[in-house]
Amino acid sequence: MHKIYDFIIETVTTMAQEDVFKKVVAHCKEYGFVFPSSDIYDGLGAVYDYGQMGVELKNNIKNYWWQSMVLLNDNIVGIDSAIFMHPTIWKASGHVDAFNDPLIDNRDSKKRYRADVLIEEQIAKYEEKMEKEAAKAAKRFGDSFNKELFMETNPKVLAEKAKRDALQERFAKALNAMDLEELRQIIIDEEIVCPISGTRNWTEVRQFNLMFSTEMGSTADGAMKVYLRPETAQGIFVNYLNVQKTGRMRIPFGIAQIGKAFRNEIVARQFIFRMREFEQMEMQFFVRPGSELEWFGKWKETRLAWHKALGFGDESYRYHDHEKLAHYANAATDIEFKMPFGFKEVEGIHSRTNFDLSQHEKYSGKNIKYFDPETNESYTPYVIETSIGVDRMFLSVMCASYCEETLENGESRVVLRLPSALAPVKLAVLPLVKKDGLPEKAREIMNSLKFNFNCYYEEKDSIGKRYRRMDAIGTPYCVTVDHQTLEDGMVTLRERDTMEQRRVPIADLRSIIQDNVSITSLLQKLV
Ligand code: ATP
Repeated sequence: MHKIYDFIIETVTTMAQEDVFKKVVAHCKEYGFVFPSSDIYDGLGAVYDYGQMGVELKNNIKNYWWQSMVLLNDNIVGIDSAIFMHPTIWKASGHVDAFNDPLIDNRDSKKRYRADVLIEEQIAKYEEKMEKEAAKAAKRFGDSFNKELFMETNPKVLAEKAKRDALQERFAKALNAMDLEELRQIIIDEEIVCPISGTRNWTEVRQFNLMFSTEMGSTADGAMKVYLRPETAQGIFVNYLNVQKTGRMRIPFGIAQIGKAFRNEIVARQFIFRMREFEQMEMQFFVRPGSELEWFGKWKETRLAWHKALGFGDESYRYHDHEKLAHYANAATDIEFKMPFGFKEVEGIHSRTNFDLSQHEKYSGKNIKYFDPETNESYTPYVIETSIGVDRMFLSVMCASYCEETLENGESRVVLRLPSALAPVKLAVLPLVKKDGLPEKAREIMNSLKFNFNCYYEEKDSIGKRYRRMDAIGTPYCVTVDHQTLEDGMVTLRERDTMEQRRVPIADLRSIIQDNVSITSLLQKLV
């Protein structure tokens, strides 16, 4: 048995959150998770490619979502609709006229910003100041500190809170009315400066439509302008009756879809958090009118439980209920995750009423009502939508899993504490040396297990270095084949998180590992 020198003495938790984020981005590139698109041409703004490890992690996230929807619910089925759709769909959905972001430029830096994001960041600044006051007081008062009381009574906190509330109210009013002049005025009044130039030399605020368009057919024949879909949901709406009829679905039922979406984001920042080409996992749940708020509540809970089952800690999530509702929605909330740059939306849950289906009925001229055999009525169903970005989910998983540790022997290691079911590689098979029949034995083990889970073979470098590389990509198990293995059929099994090593028979490997690395192990937590 090999020396057990790996022993964690400290998990580095003191890193500034900014540094964590930078490290995660660098790690993604170094270990084949995410590359800038068109890297050898210096990249393309806010477009990224997933590498050999990234694609596995991404597929596992998608499988976890898909199976939680389609396997666990016998009234939810999936589809895969085309990216190109009839252009009238985007007129009906409101995207042609209203899928806009308000943009503003700084004349000195020539940088472009979303006016609403600048203001949201200002609101967050007031909140940060309040938190800072609380942190200072907590230090002063120690154990006797009552944060709730402090936040309600401290004059400095109350002053910041008043500023925040006033701004929030003014902002919501301006947004609801899409009053662009007022948005600009808020930026001026709040003395918001460009982070690059440091000046307040702002242009007017303008509307900018986020849809990409292209042409279909030859230009000579009068090509048709078509859009790259900005969300996958409309592909579900226009197919809802096809699916309902051919699948003999009865309300309530859902349709799930995973696919690419495209948005010409004005400000593309924060790595894969805001991309111009990204992937969504959306589920539209069709319900009887009047029952939508009850279903909205259920899906809110169900979706949060899906996130929490990953084990990153309940404090990493919060709901953000929308005060400003889209005109067609009667309830909406975001599930936010604690990213290194603050709590950010990862998923939206919306009660969309019957807006989309009614619009498609109107614009297509087709009757797409549902006949309810239980009530003998025809109606346009109401819809609850759950919509999550695969890439944002990927980023949250990477940020939550990235960990630096100091070991007993003074070395440090970077380990991705990925939930085993999401890890790209489940098992590394490592011959201790490259001779004496050990590689052959290792290959034999690999060949017997590769049908069950993703295995990785490596024989270069010392065993310690190989363990480190596996830690860095989040591989939950390593087995080492040594000379003794040839005699007794036992291998050393090492676990990623504890670094514990134990001898186990080769014949037991499958059962020990499979249960812990399967998506089923996660799904079981949901039922
Ligand atoms: P934001 O306010 O951050 O622009 P949104 O409210 O417009 O997001 P939705 O239209 O509700 O987002 O889309 C649903 C989900 O799709 C989001 O919760 C997010 O995970 C993902 N998403 C949206 N836009 C992007 C993007 N540009 N890049 C990556 N993921 C995105």
